[in-house]
Amino acid sequence: MVEEDALKKYKEKRNFIDTPEPFTNTKASPDKPKFVIQKHNASRLHYDFRIEVGGVLKSWAVPKGPSTDISQKRLAIPTEDHPIDYIDFEGIIPPGNYGAGTVIVWDAGSYYNLNIKEGKETSLPESIEKGHLEIFLEGEKLRGAYALIRTGREGRKFWLFLKMKDEYADKNDILQERPESVLTGRMIEDIENKD
Ligand code: MN
Repeated sequence: MVEEDALKKYKEKRNFIDTPEPFTNTKASPDKPKFVIQKHNASRLHYDFRIEVGGVLKSWAVPKGPSTDISQKRLAIPTEDHPIDYIDFEGIIPPGNYGAGTVIVWDAGSYYNLNIKEGKETSLPESIEKGHLEIFLEGEKLRGAYALIRTGREGRKFWLFLKMKDEYADKNDILQERPESVLTGRMIEDIENKD
């Protein structure tokens, strides 16, 4: 279903003999599309927000991580499409490899599209193309409406990842309160100190 081309950039950046990162698409969700947020302690700590769209994980790196506070707009930098099987990747990307560092699954769940036009859901690939995405996250930590919006002037475009107003918005610092993996309960440090 996925064209080889969709993951060309992803594969070009990696040597799969050296990195344990997945490169297959066996875990596509038949019904509800999934999202994941990976906490990635690379040269700089950041959070990778990925949503299943059209047989790949569309991805953004969020340096400061997500926020449940509607007043916090977080910079999000688009990164290359990732294979679906990246959705539960947790572990160490060895030194010398692209993105070298430690990854945990900070949050995961399903999501649905909130963009409705003339009674119909807009197509997600089109919304991404247009730079305006509104989705409802059903994660273990994040819940409710979130938006990803491309902004800025020609030549200096960037994206913002933000919580939209709803009953799930609050001022808590979810990154501090819940630093652990939703998959294994481990902290980044637990994985790093194991070796
Ligand atoms: Mn990353």
